[in-house]
Amino acid sequence: MQSNNDTFRVIPMLPLRGMLVFPYTVIHLDVGRKKSINAIEEAMLESKEIFLATQKEAQDDDPEEADIYHVGTVAEIRQILKMPGGTMRVLVEGLHRAEVRSYVTHDPYIVVEIEEYEDDPKHKPAELEALMRTLVSQFEQYVRVSKKIPPETVVSVVAIEEPGRLADVVASHLSLRINEKQKILEARDTSKRLEYMCDILAKEMEVLELERKINIRVRKQMEKTQKEYYLREQMKAIQKELGEKDERTAEVEELKGRIEEAKLPKDAHEKAYKELERLEKMPPMVAEAVVVRNYLDWMLSLPWSSETKDRLDLKVAERILEEDHYGLEKPKERILEYLAIRKLAKKMKGPILCLVGPPGVGKTSLGKSIARSLGRKFVRMSLGGIRDEAEIRGHRRTYVGSMPGRVLQGMKQAGSKNPVFLLDEIDKMTMDFRGDPASALLEVLDPEQNFSFSDHYLEIPFDLSKVMFITTANSAYNIPRPLLDRMELIEITSYTEEDKVHIAMGYLVPKQVDEHGLKGKNISFSEGAIRKIIRNYTREAGVRNLEREIASMCRKVARQVVEDKNVHVNVTASVVARYLGKERYRFGVAETENQVGVATGLAWTETGGDILAIEVALYKGQGKLILTGKLGDVMKESARAALTYVRSRAGELGIAQETLDDNDIHLHVPEGAIPKDGPSAGITIASALASALSGRPVRSDIAMTGEITLRGRVLPIGGVKEKVLAAHRAGIKTILLPEDNKKDIQEIPAQVRKKMNFQLVSHMDQVLAMTMEKADIPLN
Ligand code: ADP
Repeated sequence: MQSNNDTFRVIPMLPLRGMLVFPYTVIHLDVGRKKSINAIEEAMLESKEIFLATQKEAQDDDPEEADIYHVGTVAEIRQILKMPGGTMRVLVEGLHRAEVRSYVTHDPYIVVEIEEYEDDPKHKPAELEALMRTLVSQFEQYVRVSKKIPPETVVSVVAIEEPGRLADVVASHLSLRINEKQKILEARDTSKRLEYMCDILAKEMEVLELERKINIRVRKQMEKTQKEYYLREQMKAIQKELGEKDERTAEVEELKGRIEEAKLPKDAHEKAYKELERLEKMPPMVAEAVVVRNYLDWMLSLPWSSETKDRLDLKVAERILEEDHYGLEKPKERILEYLAIRKLAKKMKGPILCLVGPPGVGKTSLGKSIARSLGRKFVRMSLGGIRDEAEIRGHRRTYVGSMPGRVLQGMKQAGSKNPVFLLDEIDKMTMDFRGDPASALLEVLDPEQNFSFSDHYLEIPFDLSKVMFITTANSAYNIPRPLLDRMELIEITSYTEEDKVHIAMGYLVPKQVDEHGLKGKNISFSEGAIRKIIRNYTREAGVRNLEREIASMCRKVARQVVEDKNVHVNVTASVVARYLGKERYRFGVAETENQVGVATGLAWTETGGDILAIEVALYKGQGKLILTGKLGDVMKESARAALTYVRSRAGELGIAQETLDDNDIHLHVPEGAIPKDGPSAGITIASALASALSGRPVRSDIAMTGEITLRGRVLPIGGVKEKVLAAHRAGIKTILLPEDNKKDIQEIPAQVRKKMNFQLVSHMDQVLAMTMEKADIPLN
């Protein structure tokens, strides 16, 4: 409600920037603009009263009429303080509202004519009273919640009795935007002003409530993470008190323990600790940590210092070698000599044993027996097909999934630093662009170097000098020269049928029976059964397939034993035939017919001796010689020589000139794609050629071997023993050998020698005389 004593009046005006002065409030103003200072000075001369109105834009330095709100406050200047720099600090007290009616002048300061409104403090109907109480209680609540206003303020506000004043004082305490404050100022009607204030406070309370909720949420979140952190720290502390460790420390400590236990040499010890330190610094799950952990694992599982004690007792060694192997007199003797020398000169870095012979003759098992007799651990590593140096020396750790080479893998498996280490098939290594495995192996075997063998993965040297290396090969011919120079060769030759029977009855059968969990009462083999297997189910130099077939018989019997524990099977030749099915080889060639153009030769291969059929066929052509069957150069040359010889004997052999001129000759050596080479098939080729060209069959029950010259002389050849044993295996009785090989016949085991008919020849004419049916060749 406005009062009646509203008046018009002319008064200097001070435009305010960014603030507003309510009636009944005392406030400091800093005044700097010239016009404003002038206005204040003028006011001081007169009534000390000035009209305060707010600029619409605070930045405006010289506002026009339209830029200033019309409603403002008449205030009394209480105090003036001149500040350095020409500004003034003025203390004013708002008195009442007023509204500009007109602008009188702008210079040197603004003078306006205003209409003044005063609140009527007396007029207080019940409705107003109610509004006042609401506002006071809302304000109390606001002060309590917001905490932005000192609580004493509430006391002074409660004491206010005039409704208009109450609204204005409350408004002056709130931090509202200028346009909102201006609205309050413009509310001349006190009840409207109070209502409006109640509205504003209610809104402010809502905002405050929201703020509070947000605050609580944020605090809860923070508290949760803090709580977890705190609990975790507490758990660590508790574990420490109880002497327990977290996973990481436990792992590191375990590794430390293992490092100490492993009794590493100095450089390995240092390296291990260095890696451990790296591991400690890494977060546990990174890939790099896995690499380091694997490395340490590997390193610590190598036998750096564990060693078995040698038993160098030759009597024991001899007994064990005998126990494990039948026959093999010479190899056993050589092995015992070798061990004797080691016993005498412990420090001596002797040559390395190399057992050479066809597969299945017991090279590996001799190696095992040596280990057993010395009381050493045994490991075996096959070199067959190795073509990459890294297989021996390992990959650098930068490769993903890299590992040490096979030598160190073998050492880990052995678990002692002085095992017997068998390097199998040293003649089967190949070489390619990835480096030469043979030269890496040389470092392994060389006693001058192998005390500090370097593996790419391990990075530090490992001592191999206490290892006893034994190598095996099928033929010494293919062993890389530098390796061969360091080795002492022990040759093991093929077994005769008698040997095989003995080995089977004395060793293989008991071993297989035992391995299949059978008892002597369940199974027994007759000698006839073994012979049947040897003759019709295997054709080999050694006893590997024989052992396999015996094992397969044992399996069949074991099945029956499962059904009936007391079953007994006596394995005889007919049982073998029943269990093993169709015969794989035919023994003896008695029933094969004599044929034209087919002669039987004898060959020596890495897998022992073998019989070799040589076939010749003629067809229309111009006398060309065609050779097939994967023949080597030497064999081809020897075929040409044979042909030249046969041509020179055409007359005696009854070969017509046209046959030679009008036919091409095709010579073929069957038997798979096995490469065949060497001159020893010479006389066989000549026989086949002579037969094909003359049309006379060759005797199929004779096998022959020998080199031929252009003039028909027969020269000596190698591998007699293996070849004769092969012929014997095939059931052939008559063998043609070069005269100069006579001495080799002594090498052949007596039981075989006795059964064979050896014909020594020195000229091809003799050969033809014996091999050709109805031959009529004059002997030289
Ligand atoms: P290699 O290494 O020469 O190929 P292995 O040592 O593997 O041959 O021998 C094959 C099987 O024949 C083994 O079970 C072995 O015990 C057995 N064997 C070979 N020769 C004999 C022998 N003279 N006395 C007893 N068993 C033998």
